[in-house]
Amino acid sequence: MRFSGLRIVREALTGNRGWRPLWRDPAPQGAYDIVIVGAGGHGLATAYYLASVFGQARIAVLEKGWLGSGNIGRNTTIIRSNYLLPGNEPFYEFSMKLWEGLEQELNFNAMVSQRGILNLCHSDGQRDAFRRRGNAMLLAGADAELLSAAQVREMVPFLNFDNARFPIKGGLLQRRAGTARHDGVAWGYARAADRRGVDIIQNCEVTGFRIEGGRVRGVETTRGFIGAGKVGVAVAGSSGRVMALAGMRLPIESHVLQAFVSEGLKPAIPGVVTFGAGHFYISQSDKGGLVFGGDIDGYNSYAQRGNLPTIEDVAEGGMALMPMLGRARLLRAWGGIMDMSMDGSPIIDRTHVEGLYLNAGWCYGGFKATPASGYAFAHLLATGNPHPTAAAFRLDRFARGYPIDEKGVGATPNLH
Ligand SMILES: Cc1cc2nc3c(=O)[nH]c(=O)nc-3n(C[C@H](O)[C@H](O)[C@H](O)COP(=O)(O)OP(=O)(O)OC[C@H]3O[C@@H](n4cnc5c(N)ncnc54)[C@H](O)[C@@H]3O)c2cc1C
Repeated sequence: MRFSGLRIVREALTGNRGWRPLWRDPAPQGAYDIVIVGAGGHGLATAYYLASVFGQARIAVLEKGWLGSGNIGRNTTIIRSNYLLPGNEPFYEFSMKLWEGLEQELNFNAMVSQRGILNLCHSDGQRDAFRRRGNAMLLAGADAELLSAAQVREMVPFLNFDNARFPIKGGLLQRRAGTARHDGVAWGYARAADRRGVDIIQNCEVTGFRIEGGRVRGVETTRGFIGAGKVGVAVAGSSGRVMALAGMRLPIESHVLQAFVSEGLKPAIPGVVTFGAGHFYISQSDKGGLVFGGDIDGYNSYAQRGNLPTIEDVAEGGMALMPMLGRARLLRAWGGIMDMSMDGSPIIDRTHVEGLYLNAGWCYGGFKATPASGYAFAHLLATGNPHPTAAAFRLDRFARGYPIDEKGVGATPNLH
């Protein structure tokens, strides 16, 4: 069924009896050509591009819980391509371009909203760094504008410009950035993949890999053994645990990241705003809630819930930037498990096991990467070669001394 305005009118006039589930609920088959582990954004996007662009068939996506129960349905919905390093920027700009055509391609309203992202700077040195970043973005074909303090004041007059400790000196604006409805993205990819014959199997946890002669033969699951020619793992915060089943120890730590939503307010914030003197970012959802977040909880954890000290830290960042925030009531908060890599950049690569591939290390920036990550992972799985924009995301870069350290903070996952 294609979604359209006409369809909505027809259903409204016929008692809404024609709507169907967005995807099937198939029983697992004995074997597939390609098995993807994890029905988050990246796993579903990979399956979709495998079927739609790379002509692959007999594909299954296995999910231990329900589709969208991981970080894809828990993030603060920001999409952007404002990166500095050559290993990163072309990839995220590729993703941005895919976002721009995604809803038409999937025939699904993922509420992609290019309302802009404004990164604030609070010192002359930070402004210089933003100028450099903006130039790198322009060279990669992205858009970037350096705003003066006066221009920022005109755009977001409610910020605390006179804060003696964190004066706002300007900002780097990417107008094409913005937000997308996080779980809508998962549903859109799931529906589109299902329509191309991909089996999406929920409540099916992968508990082991069957490896013979250095080659993967399939996966052990809570619903029995499933044979596979190739296996792609895209389990985000569970990457360390799942790849340990294949005898791998990853350069990744798992941490919790929390998100917060206020009561619904009248339109107040035009786009996404980030505080440059601490870690705090905020936008406003279409329902009116202020959606914000900050740093990860500083300890390793596999729990999908965070702790109070980080909530206090995020609230302090918010109050320094927008004192009016103290008057809003917080409605909801939740946590997701982040796969924090040692340099803050992802991994899309093959492994030492033939036929076993890894997509991981997204830290807290993997939502914006969903389309390009799925495309690049599908490219690798189908052709055996990395996609040109993802060629730097190799697993051995840590051993070879080629980290992609966007923030320049070294091997300290809690700082990326
Ligand atoms: C609070 C928060 C805010 C964030 N904000 C942003 C943001 O604004 N912008 C941005 O770009 N990024 C953001 N992120 C990061 C982004 O959400 C993640 O990097 C990205 O969603 C990870 O990829 P995914 O969608 O595939 O992961 P997930 O949705 O976590 O998918 C992984 C799936 O694997 C499944 N799984 C795990 N183990 C197994 C197993 N053994 N067998 C089968 N299935 C398994 C899990 O159940 C899960 O569904 C945020 C994350 C959080 C938590």
